[in-house]
Amino acid sequence: MSIEVRNLNKRFGQTVVCDNLNLDIPAGELVALLGPSGSGKTTLLRIIAGLEVPDSGTVLFHGEDATNTDVRDRQVGFVFQHYALFAHMTIFENVAFGLRVRPKATRPPEAQIKAKVMELLKLVQLDWIADRYPHQLSGGQRQRIALARALAVEPKVLLLDEPFGALDAKVRKELRRWLRRLHDEMHVTSVFVTHDQEEAMEVADRIVVMNHGRIEQDGPPDEVYDHPATPFVLQFLGDVN
Ligand code: ADP
Repeated sequence: MSIEVRNLNKRFGQTVVCDNLNLDIPAGELVALLGPSGSGKTTLLRIIAGLEVPDSGTVLFHGEDATNTDVRDRQVGFVFQHYALFAHMTIFENVAFGLRVRPKATRPPEAQIKAKVMELLKLVQLDWIADRYPHQLSGGQRQRIALARALAVEPKVLLLDEPFGALDAKVRKELRRWLRRLHDEMHVTSVFVTHDQEEAMEVADRIVVMNHGRIEQDGPPDEVYDHPATPFVLQFLGDVN
């Protein structure tokens, strides 16, 4: 599902967080929102998600105004850094959750839920720990489960906010490959917030560099890296995160 952001503005008090943002994301693309802390990445992601209301402007999903639609109706999946798994539920129950809480009319039968959950657990190669609880898993395994859980409802759009931020470098690298693989296999459109340029370069089809609520550059990783469009991008890419 394509996502279009049109003339988006958002302030918190005096702080301009989205400064007339425009962005086109074609269906199937994996886009990284890259920028320093406070540049407005999370707010843009939350507006796309429908979790935050803009002061003005619109977000179009597949050409339709999505501003007033319920998040679930938009078929959006989320993975957040601190979006912890439910501690009292098994891994299986965690992944099944989004399907089980659906209104009866759209809830699949239990056998179908089971098949779907096991398929996803196999996809992230963690079907062998379906009966365990989150505290029995490593951080990397937990985020693989978080990815599976987000994908269980078959979203068209996957939104990720620093999903691997709390993990060490080796595990982060591994999870990037998982994200890329799941994105491709599930045919979603993904928007991924990170302040880590290496992560953005490695995983994304396109990088949107943000600064003070504005888009400094928007292009494929090679282009952004080889031809920084502004002094800010040049400096930001030069900094070792
Ligand atoms: P980033 O994800 O790039 O770190 P954010 O979108 O989280 O940026 O934040 C952008 C700016 O908006 C920051 O200055 C932050 O303090 C401010 N901000 C974010 N959310 C709120 C809020 N709910 N209330 C007030 N200020 C906020």
